[in-house]
Amino acid sequence: MPDRLTPEQRHKNMSSIHSRNTKPEILVRQYLWSHGYRYRLNSKKLPGKPDIVLAKYKTCIFINGCFWHGHDGCRYYTVPKSNTEFWVNKVARNRQRDGQVRQKLEIMGWHCITIWECELKKEKRKQTLESLLDMLSRFYFKGMGISIYEIQEDDICFMVAEDSNTQYDS
Ligand SMILES: [Zn+2]
Repeated sequence: MPDRLTPEQRHKNMSSIHSRNTKPEILVRQYLWSHGYRYRLNSKKLPGKPDIVLAKYKTCIFINGCFWHGHDGCRYYTVPKSNTEFWVNKVARNRQRDGQVRQKLEIMGWHCITIWECELKKEKRKQTLESLLDMLSRFYFKGMGISIYEIQEDDICFMVAEDSNTQYDS
């Protein structure tokens, strides 16, 4: 995030990062929905209230703002020049908490996928969303105890096609 923002703009940015139904989140949800995936939002039963929960795939998706969660090496994560120490500590705590949440979920047998906001910018969006579907189908097969490499390509097409037409509650 550039440091050219006025305090008011920055405040607006910070508060929007925390709000639910942020645009990147809606983008991912709409994409999953249109591909036949059904999910829960902000499940309070799980550590860290994951943004999107796909129970059938035993997968939690976190959509992280690059500044707030401190995306390493990302141009949207620039430490503000004023109040530097405060922001550095704040982001460090968020990152630590993210790591702990992920660890808890993984111990509980959940897959965790983090999608960074910058990966949903127009130029990267298609690739990000396609690889998300790819990961989900891998997790699905893994959950059924099938290695994706053991089955014929035709079977995969059939199973994926069938799956996308199946309505289910997750
Ligand atoms: Zn980023």
